[in-house]
Amino acid sequence: MIVMKFGGTSVGSAARIMATTDIIAHSQKPAIVVVSAMSGITNRLEAVARGNDNKESIIDAHLKEAALLGIDVSEFADCARGILEGAHTESEIKACGEQLSSALIIRHMRAIGMDAVLLDALSFMRLNEDGYPDTPFLKKHLADALQQSGPHAVYLTQGFICRDAAGHVSTLSRGGSDYTATLLGEAAEATEIQIWTDVNGVYTADPRIVAHAQRIPHLNYGIADYAASFGAKILHRACVSPAWRNSIPIMVLDSFHPDAPGTVIGPKPIGNGFKIVASITDPEQPDMVKVSLIGHDYNINENDIRKIVGNDINIVDAGLATYMMVPRHKEKETIVALHDNFVTSEL
Ligand code: ADP
Ligand code: ASP
Ligand code: MG
Repeated sequence: MIVMKFGGTSVGSAARIMATTDIIAHSQKPAIVVVSAMSGITNRLEAVARGNDNKESIIDAHLKEAALLGIDVSEFADCARGILEGAHTESEIKACGEQLSSALIIRHMRAIGMDAVLLDALSFMRLNEDGYPDTPFLKKHLADALQQSGPHAVYLTQGFICRDAAGHVSTLSRGGSDYTATLLGEAAEATEIQIWTDVNGVYTADPRIVAHAQRIPHLNYGIADYAASFGAKILHRACVSPAWRNSIPIMVLDSFHPDAPGTVIGPKPIGNGFKIVASITDPEQPDMVKVSLIGHDYNINENDIRKIVGNDINIVDAGLATYMMVPRHKEKETIVALHDNFVTSEL
């Protein structure tokens, strides 16, 4: 079994859904395929929950893509209305994004003759009393769901959504479909977890901020784990450890360029030098950003960092990360400066 996860931009339109199902059709089977909501939909559902957007506009956005996919629009409209009308709490409304995208994608998969079934993630993704994934529950109930549905090439399911310990619909934190994918990989003892997104792997910094950032072909689990928890948005902050503790490789791949090599996250030696710069907002201090250098470097001299980013910076050594708080308006220049001065070219 392999697990393949497709993020919002990989399922964000009829054209992207066609490209994604094409990738799945040509890949190893059986596969558990985890999908996010169409891009932008979770934000809009948050607005619906606050009364700033309406359910009808969310349905329309999906019906437009259903029509382009040649799906029976009136049948899908009934399904989409049923999903949204049954959602009342904020979590239930947020969960609709993945329920809608998966309902659309399974119809397209069947229309093109793919041997695919839809598994309801709410039947196995559960949090324990402490709010963490209940991995024994997940393992047992995923096995039950797979067994009940019988052998298929593709088991499609929703990322991000789950139930809490009391059984109420809940969600993982934002970007959580990556975490769903690695938890499912662990539960299904997958041989590989593929995170398909809109960039060709993990880079030395967000390529939208540092245009000359470099792709990292092989990345150590520990560095990837730090990068995720220190804000590299390409990976959900908690998603590395389920794969790491089971030695399952994570491949980060580009659904816009399926033949591009991407990044393999695995047991590569850490080596010296900083590998990645990442940043994250501190919810306690919304005007400040935590900018981190991630990697191993015994020789880091704080004065060298101060020479680059200024004297009034408090530099904290946190194991595989060295971080500093900077005002939000200095975020980008700090990332570029740290990247260009400290990230090693030995990747
Ligand atoms: P998805 O919807 O597929 O989950 P995300 O938007 O959550 O995609 O994550 C992909 C984005 O992560 C990229 O478009 C990129 O801007 C951003 N990103 C941040 N840090 C990195 C990094 N170090 N390497 C690559 N991409 C990064
Ligand atoms: N749809 C959710 C979000 O936008 C989960 C995800 O995309 O990973 O946060
Ligand atoms: Mg994401």
